[in-house]
Amino acid sequence: MDIHPKGNRARVLLASVFGPYAQDDQYGSRAINPMELYHNQVTRAQGSYSIRMFHRSWGIMMIQANISAPCTVLDFPTQEGLARELTTTQYDVVGISSIIVNVGKVKEMCRMVRELSPESVIVVGGHVAGIPDLPNMIDADYIVRGEGISWMRRYLGEDENAPIRHPAIVSGLQTRAMGLRMPERKGATAATVIPSVGCPMGCNFCTTSAFFGGKGKFVNFFETGDELFGVMCQLEAELKVNSFFVMDENFLLHRTRAMRLLELMKAGKKSWELSVFASANAIRKYTMEELVELGISWLWMGLESPRSQYGKLRDADTLQLTRTLREHGIRVQGSTIIGLEHHTPENIHDEIESAVAHETDFHQFMLYTPVPGTPLYQEVASQGRLLPDVDPADIHGQYKFNFRHEAISRDDSKRFLDGAFYRDFERNGPSIYRMCETIFKGWQRYKNYPDARVRERFSREAKKLSSGYSAALWAMEREFARVNRDISERIHELRRNIKKEFPLTARLTAALLGPVLLWSGRKEERRLALGRTYEPPTFVDRCNWASS
Ligand code: SF4
Repeated sequence: MDIHPKGNRARVLLASVFGPYAQDDQYGSRAINPMELYHNQVTRAQGSYSIRMFHRSWGIMMIQANISAPCTVLDFPTQEGLARELTTTQYDVVGISSIIVNVGKVKEMCRMVRELSPESVIVVGGHVAGIPDLPNMIDADYIVRGEGISWMRRYLGEDENAPIRHPAIVSGLQTRAMGLRMPERKGATAATVIPSVGCPMGCNFCTTSAFFGGKGKFVNFFETGDELFGVMCQLEAELKVNSFFVMDENFLLHRTRAMRLLELMKAGKKSWELSVFASANAIRKYTMEELVELGISWLWMGLESPRSQYGKLRDADTLQLTRTLREHGIRVQGSTIIGLEHHTPENIHDEIESAVAHETDFHQFMLYTPVPGTPLYQEVASQGRLLPDVDPADIHGQYKFNFRHEAISRDDSKRFLDGAFYRDFERNGPSIYRMCETIFKGWQRYKNYPDARVRERFSREAKKLSSGYSAALWAMEREFARVNRDISERIHELRRNIKKEFPLTARLTAALLGPVLLWSGRKEERRLALGRTYEPPTFVDRCNWASS
């Protein structure tokens, strides 16, 4: 492979695609697909109760932390900001990271680089690189598929096998709900830790699994529990956190690593909380006590469909599993697919009912979507079922089918998808309430647990229940009394139990802060009705410049 002539003295700019994002434009921004992962695919039907936050572009942050060349990360730039950066600093390499929907922006960014910084080599990576025809769509010098750290190290003549350095990443930014922004003091938000990328389960629709090699493949950044523990201690010290968002497609699948981590957490008296992704078959390898002691407090699990044939769900009673996890204080985020091959207008309502019957804390619904680069895409393409003229900007699973389904029309796909979100909200209420319910169950079950680390964690969570969450519940109970009495009564019941447990603080916060949240939530509803959207701020991070 080529090495840049300047080696690790080359000046590198790593950029994510430009905003604004929450609008319809010619470059592929879409109002229904803002840069707020939770809002756009999990809580989007929940109005002012939707949890909204931004996440940095972790791929380019990881690359920056693992090269010694002078490097700037430009995250969420405006087009003008990008142009300014390209004209005020002479970059030898410009790396652009993107997902598939933003291919129009990548094309425009390549054009800008050629015009404003013609000496720069253009490298394009991220999921967009999975588009088979990408070389003919954009003007780039290199297109990098899969993991990018080792590629960039090789290209700069550095040791690609050097240990991975993990940057300090705060998981969520500018979090807001019910019209209020959460305080952003140090340690209040979890740190993101990325132990591996890819997933060996290889479900046919899964872009992440396909991107990092597909079935049977994944890339470990931190192979052992000891390495992972070391990185988490470093993040704990740098960011003052005891909570981690573990960005690993299937963290619990690597049981040896997870169990070693638990051993070290016990020895080091770490009362950490871990939010993880895991498939049902991986979760079932653990007892509830192991999960709880490991600090698992939030779990994203693919439910897909009761009739799906995915190996990860074989013989899994996901209804029972979800119930049990929640009873142990573990918040569950379920994920269900709308528009699988067996779905028809006749059976889709039952499938949606079965999904919402899980009563998860959060529920993501996604259209069955052949995304370029996945086995599903190859299959559907070979059957001639891909719809022509679908803009890549609309292939994100939250709009309409991009393929011909045997029984469901394109327009109906959106109707059923939207219906699933609304039904989940109608039956189960706001995710904030459901989360509180799970936290409360966990507190009741574990407040006297023999392991002090576990007690400490649940007591931290319960503190939030008796303060800010109590006020949110107070406001929600009143608001839902007007529109959904069943949910209002369920919230009332939970509040009653919380008040019994924390009589003074819960009462006081509800009385003082509750009315504020009621007012701010209503104000937010009005703003949203007028089309209010949110955009992330631009980040410019420079490193290694002193030695250049
Ligand atoms: S188990 Fe989840 S992460 Fe793994 S391949 Fe399937 S969908 Fe992707």
